[in-house]
Amino acid sequence: MDQEVRTRFAPSPTGYLHLGGLRTALYTYLLAKKHHGKFILRIEDTDQEREVPGAVDLIYKSMHQAGLDYDEGPDIGGDYGPYIQTQRRDIYPEFAWQLVEKGAAYCCFCSKEDLDAQRKEAEAKGITWKYNKKCLHEVPLEEAKRRIAAGEKYVIRQNVPTTGKASFDDLLYGHVEVDCDTLDDNVLIKADGLPTYNFANVIDDHLMAITHVTRGTEYLSSAPKYNLLYEAFGWQPPLYLHLPPVMKDATRKLSKRHGDPSFEDLLAKGYLKEAIINFIALLGWAPKDTNEEFFSMEDLINLFDERGLNKSPAIFDMNKLTYFNAHYIRALAPETYAEMAKPWLTQVLDPEKVDLNRLCELLQGRTEVFNQLPDMVRFLAEMPEFDTELYVNKKSKTTITVAQNALAFIYPLLNRITDWSETTLHDLIMAAIPASGMKTSQVLWPFRIAITGQAATPGGAFEMAYLLGKEETLHRLLHSMEVLQNL
Ligand code: GLU
Repeated sequence: MDQEVRTRFAPSPTGYLHLGGLRTALYTYLLAKKHHGKFILRIEDTDQEREVPGAVDLIYKSMHQAGLDYDEGPDIGGDYGPYIQTQRRDIYPEFAWQLVEKGAAYCCFCSKEDLDAQRKEAEAKGITWKYNKKCLHEVPLEEAKRRIAAGEKYVIRQNVPTTGKASFDDLLYGHVEVDCDTLDDNVLIKADGLPTYNFANVIDDHLMAITHVTRGTEYLSSAPKYNLLYEAFGWQPPLYLHLPPVMKDATRKLSKRHGDPSFEDLLAKGYLKEAIINFIALLGWAPKDTNEEFFSMEDLINLFDERGLNKSPAIFDMNKLTYFNAHYIRALAPETYAEMAKPWLTQVLDPEKVDLNRLCELLQGRTEVFNQLPDMVRFLAEMPEFDTELYVNKKSKTTITVAQNALAFIYPLLNRITDWSETTLHDLIMAAIPASGMKTSQVLWPFRIAITGQAATPGGAFEMAYLLGKEETLHRLLHSMEVLQNL
């Protein structure tokens, strides 16, 4: 490609970055980076009523957190700024007037009440309403200019042909064509002077020299109309890549409003950004000629090819994301894991009492998401209530009686230990077991249950006893022995 590839992510600041948006941003980024081009962030805030305070800053933050560093954008500048549409408000009317002069757009003075009445009438007849071009036919340009000069409120509408077809070619969906008579004369400039999305996207993509437009399929049916604008200006349209939605299930789109997590939510729960990015990349896209599923951002840049995109909606499978996350957690350097795990562990554990570094070693291979950690280790802080049936283990032929004997056997051994380390615990008990007449598992299973109250723990009996410390281990053991005695 001779021309420098320039792609843009153009979110509206209406809230958190949702995962569908993040995927669009990611593909947009990958497309630019793969071609050694530029990735641009543009804030589309012309619909001021929908703007949520703080959302713009959140977009910057999420983009940086995701590693989607843009080359040009509102907070870092660039040669094609400003990159916030409301800061470009003076640019749009000038272009809209060029279209008015060419007859590709016109001024409309119809009041909201008039239009609402027309819309209602159409609805009552069961037909889709579209503006009837009244002002195009009844208000000549000179009169329009006089009325505007006299202070009358107006909008500028696109003058869509009433016959023929409008079309464009999409990199994923191919040739998309619509009959012009089905298209409405969209408002391009609103009464407040701000452009609508329908106009601003065309002007900005052109002025920012965007070569590839990537966005959701909700814009697929409007794109032919945008192409009419490019034609009217005599501009070369960009290449289009519309992306299918990310779905919660077969019928519902992923949406924050329905409680589906945003990127920020996932980070807060303890998903790693690398896992999220890897997982999101594969929502509707697959690299060619490989069965590998784990990719770093660098791999993705090298492998990304829009021909690997799938037209059908992608389903967001939380279990799959969790599986990816566990993989990335296992791959962390142990010190990094410990650093990330400790804030979660100290929610329930006193770092003065538990050897957190050892605990982290035991936990790393078992952590799927960091927010599971407090529940996984709560038993170390406080002995949970548990059902004595837990002692019964068919495989090792451990019955309640065996458990009673095992605990009675192990208590005095532990009591003698002065150097409370895993090795001492292990060596001493393992050496004593053969003479007890019990199998190793008939001792260790009840021992672990008696001091943890859990069927599954992050390590075996010795590790758990070590973490609990001598005093707490003996205290728990005694209590469990009493409970068994009283059965
Ligand atoms: N501002 C639009 C949105 O947030 C973006 C559409 C586009 O990328 O052109 O949906």
